[in-house]
Amino acid sequence: MIGLSKALVEQFDGEVPGRLEELVKLPGVGRKTAFVVLGNAFGRPGITVDTHFQRLVRRWRWTEATEPDKIEAAVGALFPKSEWTMLSHHVIFHGRRICHARKPACGACPIAPLCPAYGEGETDPEKAKKLLKYEKGGFPGQRLNPPQAYLDAGGRPAPPLGAG
Ligand code: SF4
Repeated sequence: MIGLSKALVEQFDGEVPGRLEELVKLPGVGRKTAFVVLGNAFGRPGITVDTHFQRLVRRWRWTEATEPDKIEAAVGALFPKSEWTMLSHHVIFHGRRICHARKPACGACPIAPLCPAYGEGETDPEKAKKLLKYEKGGFPGQRLNPPQAYLDAGGRPAPPLGAG
């Protein structure tokens, strides 16, 4: 953190640069972090391939690639560029909360009907609920409230599991 702060002050006059090539030269900043910064702070779309993203896109058969840059290219070809940043967030949060590496909570997963890997994890709804992990004040089995902007745009909360 100290090295990063020094580099920002010494090389960029204390401003965070808005270009990938410059961001990745900063101490502790790789492509993954750089894309998060570009997407969220500068509005420049990017695909963030972290460990969750890699695992999930393979489970969903979006790609068989194992190297981050190949995954980035393969998934990037499936979605419009304008969706890349939010897509990355959604996939990563799904991996953190529901589709875990060792014990995916398939029985409590809202996209289970769409998933070619359904059954890799626990399918019993009650047991699966106990596997869910939410951040900040969440508890197993809790559904997060959708963001207000999503509701304002006509979005609807996901129906309860099993409600069709
Ligand atoms: S159904 Fe299971 S494997 Fe598929 S996304 Fe949900 S938790 Fe992951």
